[in-house]
Amino acid sequence: MRKMKAKVAQSGFSAGPAFVCRRAEAAIYQQGIPPVEAERLAAAVAELDRRLGAQSHLKSRQEAELVEAERMLLHAEEYAGRAAALIEEEQLSAVDALKKAEASVCEGLSASGNAYIMERCADVKGLTAHLIGILTGSERKLPEAPCILVSDELSPSDVSLTEPGLILGIVTEKGSPTSHVSVLAGNLGVPYLYGLKTPAEEIRDGDRLILDGKKGCVVINPPEDAWEAAEERMEAALEERQTADAAAALSATKTRVTASISGPMELDRLPAAKGGGIGLVRSEFLFLNRKSAPSEEEQLAAYERIVSAAAGGDVVIRTMDLGSDKQAEWLPIPGEPNPALGMRGLRASLAYREVFRTQLRALLRAAAAGNLKIMVPMVTEVWEIDETLEEINKAAEELAQRALPYRIPELGIMIETPASVMIAPELAEKVSFFSIGTNDLMQYTLAIDRETQNLDEYCNPLNEAVFRMIALTVEAAHGQGIPVTICGELGGNPAAIERLLRLGVDELSVSVGKLAQIRKTVADVEAGLNASAAAPGPAGMPAETGPAAGQAAPERAHIKAPADGELIPMEEIPDEAFASGLLGTCLGILPTDGTIYAPISGTVKTVAKARHAISFANGDTEILVHVGIDTVRLNGEGFAVKVEEGQRVEEGQIVMEADLALIREKGFNPMVIVVRIKG
Ligand code: PEP
Ligand code: MG
Repeated sequence: MRKMKAKVAQSGFSAGPAFVCRRAEAAIYQQGIPPVEAERLAAAVAELDRRLGAQSHLKSRQEAELVEAERMLLHAEEYAGRAAALIEEEQLSAVDALKKAEASVCEGLSASGNAYIMERCADVKGLTAHLIGILTGSERKLPEAPCILVSDELSPSDVSLTEPGLILGIVTEKGSPTSHVSVLAGNLGVPYLYGLKTPAEEIRDGDRLILDGKKGCVVINPPEDAWEAAEERMEAALEERQTADAAAALSATKTRVTASISGPMELDRLPAAKGGGIGLVRSEFLFLNRKSAPSEEEQLAAYERIVSAAAGGDVVIRTMDLGSDKQAEWLPIPGEPNPALGMRGLRASLAYREVFRTQLRALLRAAAAGNLKIMVPMVTEVWEIDETLEEINKAAEELAQRALPYRIPELGIMIETPASVMIAPELAEKVSFFSIGTNDLMQYTLAIDRETQNLDEYCNPLNEAVFRMIALTVEAAHGQGIPVTICGELGGNPAAIERLLRLGVDELSVSVGKLAQIRKTVADVEAGLNASAAAPGPAGMPAETGPAAGQAAPERAHIKAPADGELIPMEEIPDEAFASGLLGTCLGILPTDGTIYAPISGTVKTVAKARHAISFANGDTEILVHVGIDTVRLNGEGFAVKVEEGQRVEEGQIVMEADLALIREKGFNPMVIVVRIKG
C-alpha cells in the first residue's frame, strides 16, 4: 500500500481500479530494419482502418461520411503510400516516414490556397498521431469499465471522449481546480485530485485506488479490509446522495439553484434538479472532438433534447466558447502566444460568423418550443453585444425566409472579464440577464492562468477582489432590473454561499453533482438570514437606539435613524431584496420629510451613481441608507447629496435632501431603508 498527498479540485470519495492514460510522446520507439518497418506500417494502417470502419455505424450519416473520407485519406497514395516508399528509399523508420509523408501532404494542401483543402491538414495530422500511437503502443486508450482516470495531464477531450458512467474519479499530476477538466469532473459528480507529490507514473493500470477528497490523498493498493471499507463507503455515499437529491428537489429557496451541464450525459441525472431549470449549458460538447462544425439540424436536435429534459424549466444555452484550452480542430484559429488572452468565446464567434449564425439559427428554432435563453461568453466590449443582436436578427430573417418556426429568446451575457464588470452598467442596458463565470473572472482578475498549478498560495477561491467584482456586477444589474446568476465554481462552494446571497445574487448554477448540497446550504443560509432579521433587540436593529439594557452583543454599533418618520419592519418593506434580508438586516422608515442624516459617525463609503443611496463605514460596521424603492431609475433626479465618497461625517449630520414630492409624483415609494451590511 502507498499513500500520496494531492490537492483537491473536486471533493468527494471514490474507490476503483486505475486506468492510466499516458502521453504518446513518452513512449520510446524501437526502430527496426526496412522490411520490418514497412510491415509494421501496413499493419498499423490496417488496424486504424478497422477501427475507423467499426465506428461508422454508430454515427450520424454526416459523421459516417466524414469517417469514410478519413479512410480514403489514410489509404491515399500521397500519404500511406508515400510513407511506405520512404521506408524503402530513405531507410526511414515507420514513424519518421509517416512524419515526412505528413509534412509533404500538408505542404501540398497549403499550396492550394483553398481554406477547405488546407483544413484537411488537421485530418492528416490526426491520422499520423493515431498511427504513431499504434506503432509505439503509446496511444491513449479509452476505458471500457468503471475506473479512476490517472494521467500526468488530461485535456477536456480525454474526459469527454470517455463514456461518462465509467469515470469514478480523476487523478493527475498537473491540474487546477478551475480547469475545464475539473469542471467536467464536477459535472460528473466525481472527485478530482491533482498535484500528486509522487508522480502518477508510479500508478499502474488496474491498481486499486482510493481517492479521498476530504483528506486530499490517494491510496494505492490498500490492504483488503481497507478496500472493502472503501467500497462500502462509496455505496453509502451514493445512497446518501440519492436521499439528499430527493430532499433537495423539494426544498424551495428564494435564490434559485439551477444545474450547469457540459453535455447530454448529465441529462439523465437531472430529475434531482427538478423545478430548478438549467442555468448553464456549455454548448462546446457539440463542437469539440470532430472534424467539422455541427450542422444546424444536429444542433437543433441536441438543444431540443436538453429543453425537453428540463421539463418546462428555463434552459440557458451558452454559445460556443471555443479557443484557449477548447480548440476545435476544424476552427482555424491561428496559433497564439497566450490563447487565454486571445481568440476565444464571443470573439471567435464574431470572427467565424457563418458558424455563429448556424448556432443562432438552431437556438432560435429550439426556442420556438421551449424556455430557452441564449448567453454569450467572454464579453469585453459593448459593441460585441450590438453585433450579437444583429446576428440574432439576421438568423431570424433567414429562418423566416425558410418559413421555419422560431422565437427570438432573451439574450444574456457572461461576466467573466474585469472589463465586463467595469462596463456592466452599459451592458445591463442591452441584455436580459448576467451570469458571472467566476472561473474565468478569477483567472483574469487575479492574473492566474486557470490551468496553472504552481501558484496555490495566490489561488484563493474566496479572494476579496472577486467578491468586489461580483458586488459591482450585482449593483449594475439590479440598477437595470436584470437578474444575476453565478455559474462558475464559486457558486458550488458552500463557504461562499452566505456572502453571495448577501451580495444579492439571484441564482446559483452548479454542477449536477452539487445540486443537492448547494440547495441545502442555500436553504440554511436563507433561514439564518431571515431568523436574524426577525429577532428582536440588536439583531432587529432599532433605528434610534443602541442595544437594550441587559441584552447580548453590546459590540453592535449604535445607529441613528437616518430619517424622521414611521418605522416599518423589515418583512413589510415592499421590495423582496430588502424584505428577505439578503442584503443585511434592515428597517424601513416612511419619511415625514426629505432630510436624510448620517446613521453613524465614520466615512462615506459609497454614493450611488443614481444618488439615491449612500453607505457609511466605521471599522467593521457598514450601513447603507437607501432612499426610496426602485428609485435608481430616477437617475439622480430628486436627490441632493451633501457629501462625497471618502468624506468624514458625524452621526446625525445632514447628508442628503430628497425631494419627496417629486419622488411620489414620479410614481415611486419614498420609503427610506437602512441596512446593516456589516458589523
Ligand atoms: C466560468 O468561467 O466560470 C464558466 C462558467 O465558464 P467555463 O468554466 O466553461 O469557462
Ligand atoms: Mg468561462
